[in-house]
Amino acid sequence: MSESSSSTPDKSQVHKTSADNASTDICQRFLFADADVRGEIVRLTRSYTDTVSNHAYPPAVSSLLGEFLAAGVLMGSAIKYDGRLVLQVRGDGELNLIMAECTSEGAIRGIARFDVAPESADFDALTGNGVLVITVDSRHADPYQGIVSLEGESLAASLQTYFAQSEQLQSWFYFAVDEDQACGFMIQQLPGASGSDADAREESWQHLLTLAQTLTPSEMLALSNAELLHRLYHQEEVKLFPPRQFHYQCSCSRERTARALISIGKEEVDSIVAEQGAVSIACEFCGTDYRFDASEIALLFQDRGDLIH
Ligand SMILES: [Zn+2]
Repeated sequence: MSESSSSTPDKSQVHKTSADNASTDICQRFLFADADVRGEIVRLTRSYTDTVSNHAYPPAVSSLLGEFLAAGVLMGSAIKYDGRLVLQVRGDGELNLIMAECTSEGAIRGIARFDVAPESADFDALTGNGVLVITVDSRHADPYQGIVSLEGESLAASLQTYFAQSEQLQSWFYFAVDEDQACGFMIQQLPGASGSDADAREESWQHLLTLAQTLTPSEMLALSNAELLHRLYHQEEVKLFPPRQFHYQCSCSRERTARALISIGKEEVDSIVAEQGAVSIACEFCGTDYRFDASEIALLFQDRGDLIH
């Protein structure tokens, strides 16, 4: 922030709530009183470390997965849904897969998959040429899928392109991840009211964007949300909303695993049982092991509609 602004009165009205940063896994919305712009700040600690623990990810992969988790939460705040949002890359980089999932109940999980442990920390090298796919499975609406080509430099740039293309809204994303937390910051234009002055809208967006772009990783990781907004926007009137909670939770279950077995087909599953006496499937996300013995497998294929538990 420029020093020239220090002589103007401090209009900051960041409303601190008692819950500010009380939980370690939160996303908080903020709104500017004098601009058609909204923002979100996400901080994930426990849910991030739970996601990457028990996986031997190189630090750069953990870090990018942290960005994906934070991005999943930020995307969820921008898209109304009742169900599951998945953000994933389909590319030809060093990672075969990187994805994050966020449910409307605040459960998040994610995974990265590779054949050879990547040595690069470069977004382009990790993801390669490809697309970022946003899938929303809603319980009460048709599934939605948005696809945007990967912008070489960062996940943030790809998300900005997505919103520019799909919603014609300008947005700006920023991520900072260390060993203990994955943080994300977003500002986004709100759709303009009809008759609103396009030049004034653009000017106010550019002003808020320029200030946001002064954000540093250490500020993002160390400051509370209220402190962060004060640091960036102490001359603006900003309203900070109560935090929404998130937690790590894997959505795997014995029933879903049984359904996956059925989709593999009786012949193949029977051949595994013949060879090994049972079928054992470990959840790729959380490592939970689901074991089905021969009699359970027989029941599974005998009555597909009545899954065993
Ligand atoms: Zn699981």
